[in-house]
Amino acid sequence: MAHVKLHIPGPVEVSEKTFAALCRPMIGHRGQGFKDLYARIQPQLQTLLGTRQRVYLSTSSAWGVMEGALRNLTRKKVLNCMCGAFSDKWFDVAQRCGKAAEALQVPWGSPIRAEAVAARLSTGEFDSLTLIHNETSTGTMSPLDEIAALKARFPDVMFIVDAVSSMSAVPLEFDALGVDVLLAGTQKAFAMPPGLSIFVCSAAALERASQASDRGYYFDFVEFEKNAREHMTPSTPSIPHVYALASKLEEFLAEGLPARYERHRRTNQMLRDWGARHGLTLFPDAGFESLTLCCFNNGAKPGAGRTVDAAKLQKLVKDQGFLVDGGYGKIKGTTFRISNMGDETPESMTPLLAALDQAMGQL
Ligand SMILES: *Cc1c(COP(=O)(O)O)cnc(C)c1O
Repeated sequence: MAHVKLHIPGPVEVSEKTFAALCRPMIGHRGQGFKDLYARIQPQLQTLLGTRQRVYLSTSSAWGVMEGALRNLTRKKVLNCMCGAFSDKWFDVAQRCGKAAEALQVPWGSPIRAEAVAARLSTGEFDSLTLIHNETSTGTMSPLDEIAALKARFPDVMFIVDAVSSMSAVPLEFDALGVDVLLAGTQKAFAMPPGLSIFVCSAAALERASQASDRGYYFDFVEFEKNAREHMTPSTPSIPHVYALASKLEEFLAEGLPARYERHRRTNQMLRDWGARHGLTLFPDAGFESLTLCCFNNGAKPGAGRTVDAAKLQKLVKDQGFLVDGGYGKIKGTTFRISNMGDETPESMTPLLAALDQAMGQL
């Protein structure tokens, strides 16, 4: 069957070079070969994340680390900042882990703002909060800088930040932000297959975790730190993913991080321009649009631009070899999403845009 190129917001298209990197011969995860590999990529990961802390590798999708963060860091109560499907789900996950949790819910498409977070944290009820930097379901980017700045006022609150669909596509400086956990999965902007997550913890987070008696084993942050000191992971990692990550990090640094961020900004602008040409509007509030995908209104909501049959558009584009997303969660049917994250360049976006143009002409 002919391959349909992925322009959904994860997993995204994986290059032949990355697939080749996955297929290198296996090594033992306690041997010098693995230690050398992890030791070699550690400073590259630290550069990418702007940190002097050790960066950890978890063989799981992002949710493993998202759940793990609650189990390691929430003892009193967690404030779940909610603005879309993934951030809303974190509240549910906190409750499933038996944690006291409160929802700070804003309408989907709106960002989380610092004033609202500060108002809740001021009650003194919370020892942790969860925040999604780039809410992928709605294509909305919350202002991480202004929220992270609250850490100075609430030093005892653990700031747990999901950057699953923004890490490596926009600048994220962990140490400068001063947050406590920053995490991502590799099937989004890293353009790797799903199955590996990357995360970093503050010294305060490691200290808090060490006091938790019920943090389990697989996602125990203290185990990650102990093992990372020896360039290892707590349990057997997906070694092929680590090979692929080494290959991707080499690419990121060869391109240059500022050039990589600029490329994402440009390819995202191409999608926005395409939508504007066809009378489409974006779902998120103005000024908070994601840089790694576009979430377009399909006109089902009154006054939200041109009406398009998103399911038909998706099918027409798929017939031309490209997969776009037909909406997620409760806004499936009123929105559709197209991703520009990963390896996409202005050149690689051009055939997609041509297919989208042609499909719009057939609607
Ligand atoms: C994709 C995504 C997740 C979920 O990741 P899994 O790999 O399915 O665990 C979480 N948060 C955000 C923002 C995402 O985009």
